[in-house]
Amino acid sequence: MTPADFPPGTVWLAGAGPGDAGLLTLHAADGLARADVVVYDALISEEVLAMASPKAELVFAGKRGGRPSAQQADISRRLIADARRGLRVLRLKGGDPFVFGRGGEEALALARAGVPFRIVPGVSSGVGGLAYAGIPLTHRSTNAAVVFVTGHSAAGRVPEDVDWGAVARVPVIVLFMALKHLRGIAGRLLANGRGGGTPVAIVSSATTAAQRVIITDLAGCADDAAAQNARPPALVVVGEVVRLREQLDWLAAAVRP
Ligand code: SAH
Repeated sequence: MTPADFPPGTVWLAGAGPGDAGLLTLHAADGLARADVVVYDALISEEVLAMASPKAELVFAGKRGGRPSAQQADISRRLIADARRGLRVLRLKGGDPFVFGRGGEEALALARAGVPFRIVPGVSSGVGGLAYAGIPLTHRSTNAAVVFVTGHSAAGRVPEDVDWGAVARVPVIVLFMALKHLRGIAGRLLANGRGGGTPVAIVSSATTAAQRVIITDLAGCADDAAAQNARPPALVVVGEVVRLREQLDWLAAAVRP
């Protein structure tokens, strides 16, 4: 690998992948080894943080217990201030920084402040998490399209700015941050004509040692999530591709004695 330029006074806005440190990109690993300060989110695994330089300052800037422990504006201000102090700043986010991670907002703040930055893409949980669950995101006989949707809204309800009618017609729906409002979201999809028997997978803590997959269907998913105590972070996958897991659960096969 040719190491990318990481001069003092710059920020790398990097994705750390869904959890398994093996899914870090070479650029992200290189950034971890060279950064003076690492500003990281709640979903960054210990295994990944352990790859930071022993001299680096590690700064937690995530959410715990659903409450923002650092405001978005404060995070952006901190990145700008550290860069202006001449530090190499690694801003590390779960998955890919530009997939529901507010990476765009931070990049805009850096651009406005005139701080040089680089975006290091990561394996989004919406891609890598499904792979570890043995669920192809697309499959030729099943779907020619897929949609990523957020189930979270600032108002604390099922997001109103999502066109649920349009989403319901996409063959494979990958929902992020959807556990809290799963009943309402499933209700919108059912009300918009999606069949109650459509298979659903709830994939929690994908790619980590705590990975857990619940297989259910659209009509039963909210009850099953509650009954089986589904935990965040989780992806909810709706569509026929979920059935392929029966044959493709390579992770279970790999750990079987
Ligand atoms: N930028 C991230 C998404 C950030 S939003 C990415 O590309 O993956 C946070 C949401 O991502 C979580 O609520 C959950 O829906 C999903 N997520 C992130 N990591 C996950 C994991 N290891 N397993 C399951 N879902 C995950």
